[in-house]
Amino acid sequence: MQYDNHELKAALNADRTILRASQEVSAEAAYAKLVAETKSVYVGYDAKQKTAYDQTLPAISQEQVRDISIGYGLSQFNLLDKNGNGKLEKSELDARLSDAKAGRNPISGLPPTMEVELLKSLNERRPYLRALHKGGSWWNLNMIDPDEVTKEDLSAASTEVKQLRRIYDNQPLLPGVKPDKDLSTLPQGVPELFEAAGVEVKLTDQPVSKALAHHIDRSFVIAISQALYNPSSKEIVLERRDRTSKARSHEVGHAIDDALVPGAAFFSESAEFAKAVNQDLEAQKGRNIDFEHELPTLHTFVQSALLRGKLNESASKELFAEIYQSGDTNLAEGLRKYFPATGALIDKTLASRGIGRKPQTW
Ligand SMILES: [Zn+2]
Repeated sequence: MQYDNHELKAALNADRTILRASQEVSAEAAYAKLVAETKSVYVGYDAKQKTAYDQTLPAISQEQVRDISIGYGLSQFNLLDKNGNGKLEKSELDARLSDAKAGRNPISGLPPTMEVELLKSLNERRPYLRALHKGGSWWNLNMIDPDEVTKEDLSAASTEVKQLRRIYDNQPLLPGVKPDKDLSTLPQGVPELFEAAGVEVKLTDQPVSKALAHHIDRSFVIAISQALYNPSSKEIVLERRDRTSKARSHEVGHAIDDALVPGAAFFSESAEFAKAVNQDLEAQKGRNIDFEHELPTLHTFVQSALLRGKLNESASKELFAEIYQSGDTNLAEGLRKYFPATGALIDKTLASRGIGRKPQTW
């Protein structure tokens, strides 16, 4: 879906909502977070922004819908249980589904588009939710096709969600570190983009590799990182005294690449980006460019990809970040020379979003 800037902000807010909801430890808290965040972002939205937000929310949260539906079922049990028998029958879930589809009796803070997905998930998983609580054979219960789900079934599922959430990797890398509020040194438009998408800059007193050493099992890259952007928690981790380095604007570049597109996707994964890269690679053929000599500070991922004449997903991300960064001018300008179509596409995209490259105050 193509959004204008006004709608993109709302779509990015949906990203942020799902991220924050997914970082809650329980299904109930995740549902409550979703509702609370939605209420707060709706303030000041016009109809177009509400639509963009409502459509993005279920589209980007497919993995979370299952968990959040448990929280929804528990929180809205009395509303769903129309006949008050303490069980949610299929007919009751279906009745609420047609209400949600028609936008009837909306629940404050819960977009009907999202409620539709939550109800579908609950309905599909009825046999499983029953079996989980009964501890019996899934097959036997499934054959009987139990019609209803009880509050106890949902509570049992909620316990399972809590166990799963402990091993999720979207928890913050540095939960105790407050995000840096002073984003004013970032290039033009970037603070606003980060605010909308929920990207946080966290500063450490130690070198980043040291400050994150306890997360080494999450990614080996941490051991050698001077700075880091973690897409699953949307944290940029920088060493405090290192605020002006190339590494800083490189990581900011990764976060922008991520935030330019709602959901988990990056702009550098888009078809238009691949098209520009291929056009540039095609033009390089037969020129025998010695990249090691021409661009000695180029990221090793990109360098080896150029040797092969093909960029994979991580090399594309590095290319975006290296063309974006402004700390190593020789490298950024050199890359633009060899990737003119890619450079132009990045410039055009950033300009259309009002995003600058050069830091505002250094
Ligand atoms: Zn990188």
